[in-house]
Amino acid sequence: MYEYINVLISHLTISDKAYVYKIKKEMHSKIELGSRVIVPFGPKNKQSEGFVISRVASTEITDANIKEIIRIPDDFSLFSNEMFMLANYMSNHYCTSLAQCLNAIIPQGVTEIKQKPNQKKTIRLSDFVLQNIEEIRSEYSVKKMLARQLELIEYLYENRMQSVFLKTLEDFNRSTIKTMEQKGLLLIEETEEKKRRNPNAFISEKLTLSSEQSKVLSQIDEWREAGGFSECLLKGVTGSGKTELYIKLIERVISEGKTAIMLVPEINLTPQMIERFEKRFANLSIMHSKLSNMEQLVEWKKAKDGVVDVVIGPRSALFMPLENVGVIILDEEHEGTYKSENSPKYQTREVAQFRAKHHEALLVYGSATPSVETYYRVKTGDLKCFELNTRYNQKPLPEMHVIDMCMELENGNRSIFSSVLYEKIREKLERREQILLFLNRRGHSTFVSCRKCGFVMKCSKCLIPYVYHSNTNQLKCHYCYETIENTNICPNCKSKAMKYFGIGTQKIEEEAGKIFPDARILRLDSDTSSRKNAGSAIVKMFKEQEADILIGTQMITKGHNFPEVTLVGVVAADTMLNIQDFRASERTFQLITQVAGRTGRGEKQGEVYIQTYERDHYAIQKAMTYNYEEFYQEELLFREQMKCPPFKRLFYIMLTFGDEQTVIGEINELASCLLYDHGEIELLGPAPAGITRINGIYRWQILLRHVDEERLKRYAMSRIEEFRKNRKSLKSQIQINFD
Ligand code: ADP
Ligand code: ZN
Ligand code: ZN
Repeated sequence: MYEYINVLISHLTISDKAYVYKIKKEMHSKIELGSRVIVPFGPKNKQSEGFVISRVASTEITDANIKEIIRIPDDFSLFSNEMFMLANYMSNHYCTSLAQCLNAIIPQGVTEIKQKPNQKKTIRLSDFVLQNIEEIRSEYSVKKMLARQLELIEYLYENRMQSVFLKTLEDFNRSTIKTMEQKGLLLIEETEEKKRRNPNAFISEKLTLSSEQSKVLSQIDEWREAGGFSECLLKGVTGSGKTELYIKLIERVISEGKTAIMLVPEINLTPQMIERFEKRFANLSIMHSKLSNMEQLVEWKKAKDGVVDVVIGPRSALFMPLENVGVIILDEEHEGTYKSENSPKYQTREVAQFRAKHHEALLVYGSATPSVETYYRVKTGDLKCFELNTRYNQKPLPEMHVIDMCMELENGNRSIFSSVLYEKIREKLERREQILLFLNRRGHSTFVSCRKCGFVMKCSKCLIPYVYHSNTNQLKCHYCYETIENTNICPNCKSKAMKYFGIGTQKIEEEAGKIFPDARILRLDSDTSSRKNAGSAIVKMFKEQEADILIGTQMITKGHNFPEVTLVGVVAADTMLNIQDFRASERTFQLITQVAGRTGRGEKQGEVYIQTYERDHYAIQKAMTYNYEEFYQEELLFREQMKCPPFKRLFYIMLTFGDEQTVIGEINELASCLLYDHGEIELLGPAPAGITRINGIYRWQILLRHVDEERLKRYAMSRIEEFRKNRKSLKSQIQINFD
């Protein structure tokens, strides 16, 4: 009469306990692993959503009061056995509940049905905000008037993977929301199905590979002769023809009847890549971040029904239900967007490894500037590396020059522009060639340095620059939590030339306007492009040469092709170097390399000028000579000294709650629990997190550090478990993050 199944309730994200339900025998054929079921749950038998994770033999059933499922809403399963195993892996590896991992894997459109039907309007951050979150944080955090807006942004940012219903935001004033919508920061949407995209036309385009490209391709073939799971890095300067090789690898896989996954860091920044893929692959599925949840569901179904050969998209495209995967490619593997910042906080490289192993597929990481972690694997013999050393069109890379801003100061130049850069800009303007001026302002990392000798105030334990906190007039290290009193005397040269740095693109625009009154100047950053399409309009104007100078943040460093640009100025490389992150040097090296790639794309040779107070810093010196290898060597020394990845692994535990005293009390208890038997595992903190208060919620954290990833995780998780058990009335929420 009945059969029994194990159901994981999807909103229960603390434990992985499954509950037994019974179903009528005639429904049995509709149930499989991954089927969604609606069941009565809890003492009040509230209708809840769950996933079938296994069957239970009726002989095991002893309880007579087992509840019956209410209905099966879909006529398809939401995850295969592979995806279920993947969820289990992620759950273990990222210390997250199984339900949370499954929720990340299944398509968004399905979970939407969970919401009450009368709450129709949803709200989410615009893509613009998602892409520029760091800049927005730093800009908004300094203006009192914008505090409320920033709180809403942070709230939505934390919830960015699911729709937030407008009705649930009663704490926020309607006019705030309205203003933010008008500014293009928020999108208010009706949750309904939109029209499907046009099917892709198939246009074949045959290219012959260059001799270097064919050489690498045959090397890959030779290496992979035995088949099976294999991983490699494809290291090649921008324009060396990596994308063309990806396409070739994918074409091959498809001709063998298999499928491919092409991952990109940010779909909106890769229009040219999408265009090329659309031309080359008929059965292409694009997981566009601008697709509605329903549209994403449509793409997901197509993949599940086996009509998709290639998926291209950001990290979530990795969860597309493709069968028989032959190749997975991560382009620009070093990009930070490959790490998920909400639970499960997964590293795309690792999830890709899991899938590639399952399918015995080829996994390719591509980059001009591989992440230190990945290249470390190459150097330790753990990862195969193939290199493309020349640009496809044989064009030389742009010439790089470093300008010592300390010298400028000594010579009495207090302007943002050095005399050399000023001259260059003037010269290019005269010749009617275009100019890019780049400045990266990330985080609220105003840093303190000496104008005279270039000395930067840094934490003695971490060698990472202090952040200046004006309210307490203190310098704080957000990494090890050291705090010292601020000083106006340079500890190095004793002069009173300490300055607070925080120039933004707007200031550059002002200054450039004064010095070059006849130049037509455009600015591309979060202020100028928050309105819908404003960003692409600016890019278009600049491309059509309706302006001479484009000033911008990292938004100008990627993807764009400006053939008439012959000069790139990096206004202050120090703003990238002096952020509170052990990856600061790596990011600087990568960004300089990337922004340099924006010039010399046309007929004329390009030039790059980098202004800095730290001329001798290895990130700048090595970027200047395009010497990745030497940069990497120095960076590894630094990482080892700093006890950072890949040498030591970092485990962050954060407690969050609306009352600060409660959080502090609880995190101190947790800390003593962690100190119980920590052995060689180092413990730093507790201390307030970088952003101490979000949406009225206080955040405090502890950092654990150890060489062995597994041991670190096991220890931390078992102590947290213990802490949870002993502290039944725990009020704070526990969040964890890795590296
Ligand atoms: P990367 O991905 O390394 O930046 P791309 O694959 O985008 O390099 O190649 C750079 C440029 O060279 C592109 O405009 C591309 O169309 C062109 N290109 C690359 N390989 C070939 C080829 N075999 N034949 C013709 N053009 C090519
Ligand atoms: Zn420190
Ligand atoms: Zn000094």
